Amino acid sequence: MTIGILGGGQLGYMLALAGYPLGLHFRFLDPSPEAPVGRIAQRVTADYTDQAALEKFASGLELVTYEFENVPVEAANFLAERVPVYPSPAALEAAQDRLAEKSLFCKLGIATTEFAPVSNSSELDTAVKAIGLPAVLKTSRMGYDGKGQWILRTEQEVAKAKSELPRVTLILERFVPFTRELSVLAVRSRNAETAIYPLVENHHRSGILRLSLAPAQRLDPPVQRAAEHAARSVLESLKYVGVLALEFFEHQGKLLVNEMAPRVHNSGHWTIEGAVTSQFENHLRAVLGLPLGSTGLTGHCAMLNLISDLPESAEVLALPDVHLHLYGKSPRRGRKLGHLTLRAASPERLALRLSELPAFFHRPDFCLDAALIPAPSASLRA
Ligand code: AMP
Repeated sequence: MTIGILGGGQLGYMLALAGYPLGLHFRFLDPSPEAPVGRIAQRVTADYTDQAALEKFASGLELVTYEFENVPVEAANFLAERVPVYPSPAALEAAQDRLAEKSLFCKLGIATTEFAPVSNSSELDTAVKAIGLPAVLKTSRMGYDGKGQWILRTEQEVAKAKSELPRVTLILERFVPFTRELSVLAVRSRNAETAIYPLVENHHRSGILRLSLAPAQRLDPPVQRAAEHAARSVLESLKYVGVLALEFFEHQGKLLVNEMAPRVHNSGHWTIEGAVTSQFENHLRAVLGLPLGSTGLTGHCAMLNLISDLPESAEVLALPDVHLHLYGKSPRRGRKLGHLTLRAASPERLALRLSELPAFFHRPDFCLDAALIPAPSASLRA
C-alpha cells in the first residue's frame, strides 16, 4: 500500500519512518531535488502546478496527504478527483490563509487575537486605529517561521510599513504580551475517532521554534480543557482527518489561538519518544481509518531544534535517554537540520539532563534558560 505525500521535508521523512513498521510505502512530490525524503522513498520532483507530474504521482496511490500546507489548493483538488486526499482540500484551504482561519476561530467562539484585513495603506491606517500599537502585520498567506511579518510599535514604523507595503493581502493583529506560547496536537480519523496530546510549551527565537517542553508545566487544568475544546471544535467543523496543530498564546491565564497547521507539527516531534504513539504514526492511522493510538506520555520531554549547524553526535548520544534525529539536509543558516529529544521521569530530572548537554547547546539560540527552571536540585545529582 503506497501513501502519497505532498512535500518532501523532514515532516514527510518522519511520517515515512513511522509508516514502515506498518508495512506502508511512500511516494513524495516536492519541487526541490534536494528534498531529504529522496534518500528513503520514491520521490517525484516537480512543481505542484505540473498536472502531468500530479497525474504520474497519483497513479496507484492508496491516498494522498501533506507534510507542507502551502501546497496550492488546486493541486489538492486535482488529486482529490483521482485519489482520496486527507485532510480535505477544504481544510487545507482554511488553514492556508490567516484571515480565513481567524474568521473560523471567531465563528467557533475560540478566543483569538484582535485582527483586521489590510490590503492597502489606508486600510492599514484604519486597522491601526481599531487595534492600536504595538501590532503585528503579517502576510495572510504563505508565511511561516516568522517570515512575512513585521512588528509595528510606533507611528514611524507604521509609516515605513506603508511605504513598503507588499501587494498581497495582509492581516494586522494586536501584539499579545503573552506569558508563554503553547500548542496542542489533535488527531481525528476517517472514522471520526479523536485523540489529543497534552499541551506543549514552545520557545521561539527570530520566529523559529527552538525548544518545546512536553507536557507544559504549571498548567491549570481549565487551560488544557480549553485547548482540547478548541481543537475538537475545529476538527469537527472541518470534518478534519489527520493531525492538526493549534498554536496559542497564554495571556492572563487564558488561551488565545494564534494559528493552526493542517499537518504534523514541529512542536510534536517529542511524541516519537515521549508519547505511546507518535504524532506521525497517529496521522497515518487517522488517514487510513485505523484505530488511533494512545496519546499518553512516556515521560517528560524537551525537544531542541538543531538549526544552522550540528553538534558532535557522539557527544550528544553519550548522555542517557537522549535521542538524535538528523534530516540529511546540507547545513544552511536558519535551516532546521535535525532535532534532539531528551526524556526524563520528572521536570526536575529533565532540567538536570538539559544542564548536562555539551557546551554547543548552551548558546542563547537553544532557549535552554526556559527549560532549566526549576533548577536541578543537589539531591538529584546524587
Ligand atoms: P506565526 O508565524 O504567526 O506563528 O508567528 C511567529 C511567532 O511570532 C510566534 O510564535 C510569536 O512568537 C510571534 N507572534 C506572532 N503573532 C504575534 C502576536 N499577535 N503577538 C505577539 N507575538 C506574535
